[in-house]
Amino acid sequence: MTTSARLGDLSPEEFRKAAHEAVDWIADYLEHPERHPVRAQVAPGDVAAQLPVSAPAHAESLDAIVQDFHNVIMPGITHWNSPTFFGYFSISGSYPGILGELFAAGLNVNNMLWLTSPAATELELRTVDWLRQLMGLGDGWFGQITDTASISTLYALAAAREATGLDIRTLGLAGRRDLRALRVYTSEHAHSSVEKAVITLGLGHENVIKIPVDSAYRMRTDALRDALEADATAGFTPMAVVATVGTTSTSSIDSVREIVPIAREFNCWVHVDGAYGGPAAIVPEMRWLLEGVDAADSLVVNPHKWLFTPVDCSVMYTRRPDALRSAFSLVAEYLRSPGDDAVVNLMDYGVQLGRRFRSLKLWMVLRAFGADGIEERLRHHCELAREFAGMVHYEGDWELCAPVPLSLVCFRYMPPNTTEAERNAINAAILEHVNASGVALLSHTKLEDRYVIRLAIGSVRTQREHIEATWLALREAARVVSAP
Ligand code: PLP
Repeated sequence: MTTSARLGDLSPEEFRKAAHEAVDWIADYLEHPERHPVRAQVAPGDVAAQLPVSAPAHAESLDAIVQDFHNVIMPGITHWNSPTFFGYFSISGSYPGILGELFAAGLNVNNMLWLTSPAATELELRTVDWLRQLMGLGDGWFGQITDTASISTLYALAAAREATGLDIRTLGLAGRRDLRALRVYTSEHAHSSVEKAVITLGLGHENVIKIPVDSAYRMRTDALRDALEADATAGFTPMAVVATVGTTSTSSIDSVREIVPIAREFNCWVHVDGAYGGPAAIVPEMRWLLEGVDAADSLVVNPHKWLFTPVDCSVMYTRRPDALRSAFSLVAEYLRSPGDDAVVNLMDYGVQLGRRFRSLKLWMVLRAFGADGIEERLRHHCELAREFAGMVHYEGDWELCAPVPLSLVCFRYMPPNTTEAERNAINAAILEHVNASGVALLSHTKLEDRYVIRLAIGSVRTQREHIEATWLALREAARVVSAP
């Protein structure tokens, strides 16, 4: 073999063979989820113990590497694509989404400037606009794709900070006598990413004000007004209010319609976290959940949570792209290109320069399922959640712990003659028993100190039989852990 042949990539034949086998394997894997326990059945360090401590000194064959993928990596995988994965917010990659990932990897486009790949920029802008329309939002939104909702919310709050006009971008926060603490208001059930964004922006963790919730776990708007008034009087600067449409613990839906006018009285930016719940607005009878959002300033929706798109794909929308741009745009000489003024360079709207070609997978999902197909799938998930809630409701000694507006059910086992502490321990044991069995995977939360099990439906492959099998496993676990 000549030197130049040795130095290039592997041969196309090697790639073709391995890639065809990989695609066959993925199709079989997704067709037969029952072959794998949902939760990885390994102990900490088991996988690492099988991995050499140093990279290989010499080339290895793709066959050998793929063998190790099956023997070493697969046993350590928790199967988020399983139809009985109900933990956290269940996510699932669909075939069209996987295809999009494959093409994106093949192209390896870096979507930092329009010029570095025009189709990547233009497809991104068009695809997120399709999604906006599908959710029933009005015109005037600028959208872009980020990796996660955590980053989308960070960007939204960075824009909110810029919109204060306090020129923190240039002057910073330190040692400024003209600044009062900037505060962000969000429900006590908001996702921790809101706090992380505030911390990252240097505003101070204690300036996140947690607003109490009502009996359905929605932000209490009277308490929001009280907090804003008290802070304004005390000399703080209210900066932003973050509403959540589909909270992590219970999927509760804050009333954006009521929150926006209150926030406006105090000149606050309004950001809406619809990371999980947002896509439900694609279903016409669920569209009410985004009511009022057209009057907000920014919104995050995660297609990688509940829109069948492989992780990662979050969409950050804002009605004030100028504030976002002014927060982030900084163009080094080596990134200038002719005609910059006439195009959107997505690097101007965030921290990242390099950006993956994520819109390809979202585009493929939206086209391969169509608006009506997506609508039916989301509706089906909500129906399954209601069915599961019915099973819990009508079973003695079990209780529903929160309303079920979307596809998440919160519930617990309530054996008679037990204290709260005992119930908490029993439910934790039930969860562990089911998860350890590999039949299904669920997660938990705490509601007013009650340990509550969460079943979140989001997989494109979940059907009624999966809900039934999981319910059976839960009741069996309750029997086992309560046995004397
Ligand atoms: N917001 C809500 C309501 C969530 O439930 C989550 C994660 O579950 C997030 C934000 C953070 O999402 P990501 O993992 O995309 O940062």
